[in-house]
Amino acid sequence: MPIQNPADLDLARARLAAAQRLLVITHIAPDGDAIGSLLGLGLALRAAGHAPVLACADPVPEVFRFLAGADTITAAPEGDFDYAVALDVSDPARMGAVGAALGRPPDLVLDHHLTNPGFGALNFIDVAAASTAELVTELLPALGLPLPNEAAQALLTGVVSDTLGFRTSNTTPKTLGLAQTLMQAGGELSRVYDLALFKRSYSAVRLWAEGLSRMQLKHHLIWARLPLEARKAAGFQGIGDADLINLLTSVREADIALIFVERADGKVKVSWRSVAGINVAEVAAQFGGGGHAQAAGAEVAGTLDDVEAQVLAATRPLAKAARTPTPAA
Ligand code: 5GP
Ligand code: MN
Repeated sequence: MPIQNPADLDLARARLAAAQRLLVITHIAPDGDAIGSLLGLGLALRAAGHAPVLACADPVPEVFRFLAGADTITAAPEGDFDYAVALDVSDPARMGAVGAALGRPPDLVLDHHLTNPGFGALNFIDVAAASTAELVTELLPALGLPLPNEAAQALLTGVVSDTLGFRTSNTTPKTLGLAQTLMQAGGELSRVYDLALFKRSYSAVRLWAEGLSRMQLKHHLIWARLPLEARKAAGFQGIGDADLINLLTSVREADIALIFVERADGKVKVSWRSVAGINVAEVAAQFGGGGHAQAAGAEVAGTLDDVEAQVLAATRPLAKAARTPTPAA
């Protein structure tokens, strides 16, 4: 359970109710859970009469702009805040410039990452939750907040995108129960699934083609690289891998999938995915990143060739260990 001390939840509820200037923050390079959680809590707060500032240091990806309130998310919140909430943020650096401008730890952290050190004044970190949106859905009543239909739509987007449509190994009966709550409150499952998870731009699929032509499989490890020139050739405007990593995980022969995305700032964005039983969060943490046991990431300084070589060397033993038959007891 995320709630070690129910009194903490009462305290968070009282502080939220009394707050004059509320800031709600999510992580840089936001995904569906980041935006879904941010808008879910933000729209619930607005329905309760608050005027929270919703912040993300990076732009809202095109695919989530259909959500109500997405156009109210700011990259540069102004003024002082007497209560700040961080959602889906696994460490302070992941708040980017918004966190730096806040200049103190958030008052409340709601998250589900294994590697979260608990950097808020109050922390509800439920590593059993398949998404932060799931945790927010669970906590709204205890925080004294309503669930208007537009918040339900946003939270359902978070749940659906972080579970890849209810198919990740951390999807539980509780996940489905909370998704039911969200649908009953007005969340449209098929629309959310289609817009947030399935449909993508032609340039995104062209980026897949660039990555797939640079794909390799060795010893149950599959990886692909996306140099800057691939992004240019595809005409892809986004900052990430267009979820190519999820396509790599569909290869049966692989236990671990990796992607290396070259960026213009001299860093390489690395994503790890693994089958159940292999914890890639630890190897991501070795490179200054973090995440979940089965999905982790890091931003690593260096050239594409160097980062690829270092990360492959550090990750290979995990794939090999997983396929080594254990001696009979
Ligand atoms: P992705 O590979 O899709 O970017 O991220 C997979 C998971 O790892 C997500 O839960 C994400 O929050 C986490 N993650 C990705 N990049 C970083 C990073 O640079 N630092 C940390 N701490 N976590 C990351
Ligand atoms: Mn998440």
